[in-house]
Amino acid sequence: MGDKPESAQHKIRRSSSTGSGILAFLAPAKRRRLHALAKELEVANRKVTELESLILSKNEFISNISHELRTPLTSIIGYVDVLSTKVEFESNPELDDIFKVLDRNATILISLVQSLLALSQFDSPNRSEAFKAVNLLTITEDAIFILRSEIEKKRISIKLNFDPEDTFIVEGDPGLISQACINLIANAIKFSSAEKNIEIRLIREARTDKQSTICFSVRDQGIGIPPDEISRISERYYRASNAVSDHVSGTGLGLTIVAKVVALHNAQLKIESTLGLGTTFTVDFPAQLSPVATLILNRKFGLLAEAIEGIQVNDQRELKAKLHEYGGALGFYEFAEFGEELLSLSRTLSDVEKIVDSQTLKARDQLVVRMKEALPIKETGEANVE
Ligand code: ADP
Repeated sequence: MGDKPESAQHKIRRSSSTGSGILAFLAPAKRRRLHALAKELEVANRKVTELESLILSKNEFISNISHELRTPLTSIIGYVDVLSTKVEFESNPELDDIFKVLDRNATILISLVQSLLALSQFDSPNRSEAFKAVNLLTITEDAIFILRSEIEKKRISIKLNFDPEDTFIVEGDPGLISQACINLIANAIKFSSAEKNIEIRLIREARTDKQSTICFSVRDQGIGIPPDEISRISERYYRASNAVSDHVSGTGLGLTIVAKVVALHNAQLKIESTLGLGTTFTVDFPAQLSPVATLILNRKFGLLAEAIEGIQVNDQRELKAKLHEYGGALGFYEFAEFGEELLSLSRTLSDVEKIVDSQTLKARDQLVVRMKEALPIKETGEANVE
């Protein structure tokens, strides 16, 4: 923070010193006008610095308070959960209602705290952009896993569709992309009645020969959004009239976060909805890899597996060296995520080293199995969570 006012003053000082030379050639009226403008600029700069420092304090405050609130709230939710297992609801239906209200309100509070925390991090000038290769398929599968208890409670059927021959790599912040996916899937569950279907799709759309878009979409059969309100739903705290009248709980911050994540990743958010029939949210991410590069990447996994299977070596050191050589030659180390997997896999070789000397072949076979497990090779394009 200290840097900003200094650099602002710096700019002014420099501009007025270079300006003084030029000023000597100007008519007095123009000189006075320029002096006045320089003064105004200085005042405006000071105001900007003040406002920046206020925003920073506000963000720090929200972030601290959210952290402080999160711990006791998590504990309250935990104890409510434990207590509810110890109560005989059949003999005491009133208590059942009380527990439901407690659970509902505590859940709203914790999601509010989490959303405020996420939003304050967005506004923070210290936010580091940790962009790297992100596998949208893994992120989606993890999001479904995280939301499994809500899915099960409502007996919702989730269908995840993707082309198993393709990879869905985008460049971005994995934590933020994951948060956006969770928010969209959680909304689809929340705004659907029991036993409905939700379809999540990952598809690649070619834009040009070299560029493509990865489309992540979530389609539900829920309450839908009134057409005249669609354009407002990603505004901070905005909740559509039917969500309010149907008493669906929420804070109106989830889509604000999604919209910010989308903008940060140069992606696009599309919303299609029919009131009473359902809604589809689509996020179009620019793909990190061209279709040709993707084809090569897909082939690489198979090639590496084949190469390792064919390795003829006498001891573990040679095996390790060969693995590094093949992996490197096939370019695995360019891809942060997969490269790391492979690297850590080759490092685990030291675990098998003990048995390698006399049984190099056995170690190699183990490695191939472990590699196939670790690399994101999918057998099927459909995953059902019911
Ligand atoms: P919250 O879900 O906490 O209310 P969000 O910011 O996530 O807040 O969403 C804002 C509003 O957009 C919701 O209150 C609801 O009116 C509408 N909305 C979002 N997702 C859906 C959906 N899948 N189906 C119907 N309405 C939705």
